[in-house]
Amino acid sequence: MAPVFSPPLHRQRHQFVIDFVKRQKPQKVVDLGCSECSLLKKLKFHREIELLVGVDINGAIIKKKMHGLAPVSTDYLQPSYDQLRIELYQGSVTQKDMRLRGFDLVTSIELIEHLTLDDVERFSEVVFGYMTPVAVIVSTPNSEFNPLLPVLAGFRHSDHKFEWTRAEFQSWALKVCLAYGYDVEFTGVGKAPPGQQERVGFCSQIGVFHRLGGRESSNVLSDDDAEDGFSYTLLYSINYPSLRDNNILRRVLVSEVLYWAEKLKRRWMEEKTGERDEAEECLRASEQRIEMEEKQTAACGARTNHPVEQCGREVLEVQEGEDEEVFWNNRKGQQESCILHRSVSVPLAVLWSCCPKVSALSGSLSNLRHLLMDEPNVKLSQDGSAVLLQEQDLEEEEEEEEDNDVEDSGYGEASQCPHSAEQEGDWEANI
Ligand code: SAM
Repeated sequence: MAPVFSPPLHRQRHQFVIDFVKRQKPQKVVDLGCSECSLLKKLKFHREIELLVGVDINGAIIKKKMHGLAPVSTDYLQPSYDQLRIELYQGSVTQKDMRLRGFDLVTSIELIEHLTLDDVERFSEVVFGYMTPVAVIVSTPNSEFNPLLPVLAGFRHSDHKFEWTRAEFQSWALKVCLAYGYDVEFTGVGKAPPGQQERVGFCSQIGVFHRLGGRESSNVLSDDDAEDGFSYTLLYSINYPSLRDNNILRRVLVSEVLYWAEKLKRRWMEEKTGERDEAEECLRASEQRIEMEEKQTAACGARTNHPVEQCGREVLEVQEGEDEEVFWNNRKGQQESCILHRSVSVPLAVLWSCCPKVSALSGSLSNLRHLLMDEPNVKLSQDGSAVLLQEQDLEEEEEEEEDNDVEDSGYGEASQCPHSAEQEGDWEANI
């Protein structure tokens, strides 16, 4: 009975690489013979990878699908701390290019059988002798499996220059290891029907090579190698939006601050005009709790090696500690919202303590103030301690309000915030 692979064999090969990436967490990965970039499209979701490169001799085949590697709208709207750059090159694996040195992982999936044996030698020298990655995954057809494939006469593809037995593949791999300082494990994907596995092996045989000495071992370029420079042609490059880019961090922070400030303003105004009854209040409180939990979870999804991405109670406490003076002064002082000169003032301390994403993005209250200081879209109070929002809906009330003492306009909502404080002080003095 002819074997039918489920999932299909090409997916099994890619899954093998993905499983390796999940375990080893390489930061720089290059796929040689990337063809239509289908493996790269799967790898781009692996947050450890910071540089993802594809190389193929056939530029047209890369160009056909390369735009599928571009960021999508959510990558712009909700960027994370992850960094990812993707580069695609037209070039031959028999030629050296300096940009491909120093990678953690090189993959060569069903590529070497498209090379002449002389070119396989060059490939070995380029990949193992010049690029010297920490790990290499090479897959190639196992010719011993071919008799099990239906209606196959000759090679599996018309462009194949050879198809190796397991012994031939292992002989080449062991020579490479000896010459360039690697060790190798042999495995594969595409199992034979029951009882035949040992006799014929996997349909696609795979060698996983590790550089001796691992990441710590480094190699020095010879003078000849150093002159190789750039022999590949860059076809495509893209940087994914990341919160590590200060401009992007500011943009996201500003939109988050404006969103929450507006929300807090509305709640406060509803309270002030008595539009909210108790039942609604309860409902809102629980809705908001859920929403905040979701936000907190989202903020926690950020990478863990950034200082401000750690969120939740513990870090909040640490940040409070760091900023104690400013934070507590603000809390004890002007914590409440109020209307001032047709603007509603929402204290940064309230925003910082009520909105997990704002606190995660800014890291501390003083940082938040600093980051918002020169933002054209955010109007801060004169002392920089509150966001001022236009008061549109309640102009009549505002006039009334001006006749009364502004101090009375207590920000009742503050009591629902985890770090809210009693109202003290006079906002107007600070505007
Ligand atoms: N790796 C792909 C995957 O897993 O989906 C499939 C690879 S396809 C079978 C072989 C690819 O190797 C082709 O896209 C071909 O253009 C490319 N190729 C052949 N010779 C090459 C060379 N000397 N340098 C770079 N790429 C080469």
